[in-house]
Amino acid sequence: MGVSTNTLAARGLKPVAALAAGRGHGDRLRYKAGCRCVACRRANSAYVRARHIASKSGDWNGIIPAGKARAHIRTLVATGIDRRAISIVTGIADPYLYNIAGGHRKRIRARIERTILQVTKDQVMPEALISSESSWELIKKLVDKGYDKTRLAKFLGYQSVQLRMDDSHITIREACSIQRMYDGLKKCCFPGVGESANGGA
Ligand SMILES: [Zn+2]
Repeated sequence: MGVSTNTLAARGLKPVAALAAGRGHGDRLRYKAGCRCVACRRANSAYVRARHIASKSGDWNGIIPAGKARAHIRTLVATGIDRRAISIVTGIADPYLYNIAGGHRKRIRARIERTILQVTKDQVMPEALISSESSWELIKKLVDKGYDKTRLAKFLGYQSVQLRMDDSHITIREACSIQRMYDGLKKCCFPGVGESANGGA
């Protein structure tokens, strides 16, 4: 956050003129590059109007700097929250959050920002409850790949060999463990599941 990101170059943006070069008149980029012909002014005011209406309805989804979202993720993570929990609660893929948090992704959709800013610490604490639906979907995918439920339960460190797949809610901690297990197995073992997953069975 310390570094000023106000220059176009710092934000990795091409100058508008370069972007507008290939565009015909009646394109908002041409307007932004300085053209004030009727077609370009019309294109610009149509955009401004649409943006105004959408922003009034709270659903504008234009591209904005990622700074606020980045700060929010970092604040949560600094209090000990697993970034995966934010991914689980928001449905935004963890690598995407990683790129926002790390500053690699500088601009995001407004809807993504709203989704991230809505996440409260209470929602993502390890003991918080969340619908188990998507976690069980991951387990089902692993079972379809040939993994044995008992082994998966052991992998997760459950005392019982049963995965309580009829529970409608699980804790964030459990959901994170399942996600971590899924990601790990996917990365190392998906192509040839047979050998690594089902050694004994
Ligand atoms: Zn023009």
